[in-house]
Amino acid sequence: MSLYLADITLTYPDGDSRLTALDHVTLEVPRGSMTAVVGPSGSGKSSLLAVAATLITPDTGTLTIDGITTTGLTRGELTDLRRHKIGIVFQQPNLLSALTATEQLQVMAQIDGRSPGKSRGRARELLAAVGLTAEADRRPHQLSGGQRQRVNIARALMNDPTILLIDEPTSALDHDRGAAVVDLITRLTHQQATATILVTHDRTHLTAADQIAEVHDGRLHLPAPAR
Ligand code: ADP
Ligand code: MG
Repeated sequence: MSLYLADITLTYPDGDSRLTALDHVTLEVPRGSMTAVVGPSGSGKSSLLAVAATLITPDTGTLTIDGITTTGLTRGELTDLRRHKIGIVFQQPNLLSALTATEQLQVMAQIDGRSPGKSRGRARELLAAVGLTAEADRRPHQLSGGQRQRVNIARALMNDPTILLIDEPTSALDHDRGAAVVDLITRLTHQQATATILVTHDRTHLTAADQIAEVHDGRLHLPAPAR
């Protein structure tokens, strides 16, 4: 199994008390499959992704990534794990305005210590996979919202992650463009064999999911399998 959250509880300080953002959450996501996470605003979806991304350490519970349990790892070890194993797509693309689409991807390889020369081919390949061959040398202001989101997704795959975590990628897109982005994520999940979590509040995108998890007040429910 690739991603396993076991009995995760996460609280945030809230005045004199604490707010429970995740309440004994258990979730398993195998490689090559996509789990959709749905739930109202404030229910804990982004917190769940932040824990799965090792960006927040939960109060209790364990996270296992590719057989590695993260409990007790140092900050440096967590950073390494994140760099090599986890692709994260935040809601806002956060692309660097001065860089072309290809360069946005090459930066990821550079952070990972690979030379830009070697990473160029892989960057082009991934841009082709998300349908942006013709846009490879464009900068963010020369791309549409949907194209920027696709660069964002391709960038998350640059270091061949086993885990792909995506937070509401379609919220700024119209229905057709949103559906195209979800199709793309489904295809990449199978092609790259990632364990993917897709947070979405748009239920029309759920048919592609292998598993649908509903979050309410920090509690996660797994209804019957999607198919
Ligand atoms: P969602 O992504 O489903 O909208 P979040 O995970 O962002 O939900 O938030 C879950 C709950 O935790 C909400 O009540 C939110 O206000 C609270 N929360 C989120 N981040 C923080 C934080 N950094 N500090 C305090 N409370 C937070
Ligand atoms: Mg959120």
